[in-house]
Amino acid sequence: MSVVRGFNKDRWQYGGRVTLTSLIVATLTVVTSGLGVFEFIELNLLDHFFQWRSLEVPDRRITLVTVDEADIEFLQKWPMSDRVLAEAIAHLKVYKPRAIGVDLYRNLAVEPGSDELQEIYRSTPYLIGIEKVVGNKIPPAPTLAHLEQIGFSDIVLDPDGKVRRHLMSIHRNETMKSSLSVQLALLYLKAEGITPEIVDSKTKTYRLGRAVLKPLSSHGGGYSNIDTGGYQMLLNFRGDRDQFTCISLTDVLENRFSRELIHDRVVLIGAIAPSLKDIFHTPYNTKNATFDNRLAMEGPIVHANAISQLLGAALDGRPLLLTVSQIQEKLWIVLWAGLGSIGSFLVLNSKFFKKKKIGIGRILLAEITVGNLGAIATSYWLFLNGWWLPSFTPAIALSAAVLAVAFDYTRQWKNLAFIDGLTQVANRRYFDEYLQQEWRRHASDRKSLSLILCDVDYFKRYNDTYGHLEGDRCLQEVARAIERAVRAGDFVARYGGEEFAVILGNTDAQTALGVADRIRTRVRSLALPHATSEINEVVTLSCGVATSIPDWQSDPSDPIAIADRGLYEAKRQGRDCVSLGSPPVGDRCK
Ligand code: GH3
Ligand code: MG
Ligand code: MG
Repeated sequence: MSVVRGFNKDRWQYGGRVTLTSLIVATLTVVTSGLGVFEFIELNLLDHFFQWRSLEVPDRRITLVTVDEADIEFLQKWPMSDRVLAEAIAHLKVYKPRAIGVDLYRNLAVEPGSDELQEIYRSTPYLIGIEKVVGNKIPPAPTLAHLEQIGFSDIVLDPDGKVRRHLMSIHRNETMKSSLSVQLALLYLKAEGITPEIVDSKTKTYRLGRAVLKPLSSHGGGYSNIDTGGYQMLLNFRGDRDQFTCISLTDVLENRFSRELIHDRVVLIGAIAPSLKDIFHTPYNTKNATFDNRLAMEGPIVHANAISQLLGAALDGRPLLLTVSQIQEKLWIVLWAGLGSIGSFLVLNSKFFKKKKIGIGRILLAEITVGNLGAIATSYWLFLNGWWLPSFTPAIALSAAVLAVAFDYTRQWKNLAFIDGLTQVANRRYFDEYLQQEWRRHASDRKSLSLILCDVDYFKRYNDTYGHLEGDRCLQEVARAIERAVRAGDFVARYGGEEFAVILGNTDAQTALGVADRIRTRVRSLALPHATSEINEVVTLSCGVATSIPDWQSDPSDPIAIADRGLYEAKRQGRDCVSLGSPPVGDRCK
């Protein structure tokens, strides 16, 4: 039996163990999360945070001019002609919007009315058109490109195909291009006297009105390793279509809209007709596997959310969704592992638990549940305040720490109950249980079980000569020597005072005598001086051996009595020898 470390009552040392457990658990959790194992769950939890959050007031700074199926029906043509688009923009311009975004690819002329549209473009410096710059590129309308009134419409997708990020700018052909939403937001803010200022060019930190913008890192929040090329930020959605004012294109063409819906606003013209399939999965969309149009968000609404995020942050101080540094994220996980460890330690050491009114399984389950809810609730609170920190990973760290400390505790509790404090081998109680169990097992297998009882010779005199403390040390040495002399599966126990017992499963008498003799020689070769021993100048042992095939009628006390007789015989024969209790087969002395 292997030696198990005893319970150390020193509180500081135990505090150290709890700290070490937290650190080991936190490190393992950080390493596992670095492999991307928890990313999917983290992203799902973030989606739930968005869904749990109560809706904010709609953003009155943004109006969408939408093209739905009914509008296409009305136009009887898609894409609409340049004349129709020019006419719609002209109607909007009457009420002086601050910015107009045309979220429609218009790289090719759609006659009739191309000249009219070019003219509108040229006379509207606050109009922004789109291009697509990543993957399958789509060029911009040439006139708008010439006027530098272009923003890209690219939307980045997460590994699970959802939109959670906003690609704000990107380097293409040695020029810095920015997104449609950034261009429109900046046009709006310029009228308020707000322009972006560099705070720290190394970390690409900008100030925009009340907001401080920082790019997302590839390991930020619950992400484990995403492509964050260009300048990306998390998209702190305001909501779906209901969070923005919408006017249909038909109403615009027929002048059925009021001035205040357009004046001084960002107006974004875009298609939301399901047949055009400009749709994206977002955190509001709970169906991952199937592409459900009803739940997905149309492209123009995603852009409106991105514009709204920038305007809200710059003007109202509405929180962006930021992540913390890698170091801070690791400390966050260590913190939760620490809370789990300390919580587990305090609960298991509390009077309430010690009175055993409640089982350990239940108390751990309750603790893990409370801890996990705490971790998720704290992460949700941080989310509401504009921070995305991992929430599932700390919950895992906490649960693992609770279990690790509880495991350590029960192991030590078991040690206290079953391990002899002085010699660190099994105690008498454990010996009795083990013998009983082995007795039954060998009775059903019809195999021989051997027991050795060892007793230190003239130990009373040893104590008298060297003192009780030296006597204790001698017993510790003897226990170690016995453990080294037996095989890995053999069971060593302190039977009483200076007596030790060894249980040898599936072992015949000859082998047991051999083991007993090896124990005797090992102890003698420790060469512990014993000046008052009558038989040797060093500490010696006498051993009694019992071997039998147990049967259901007999009792485990039988081999003890036989081994005891063997021991008595060994003592009688002059000590420092081994004797087989019954039946007598042979003795080996000196
Ligand atoms: P024998 O050779 O016949 O076995 O003689 P003995 O002196 O070893 O036997 P005895 O039973 O007379 O004395 C055993 C002694 O072991 C008495 C007791 O003080 C000592 N002892 C028992 N437990 C401990 C212990 O935990 N520590 C120390 N130091 N001594 C112990
Ligand atoms: Mg004794
Ligand atoms: Mg003795």
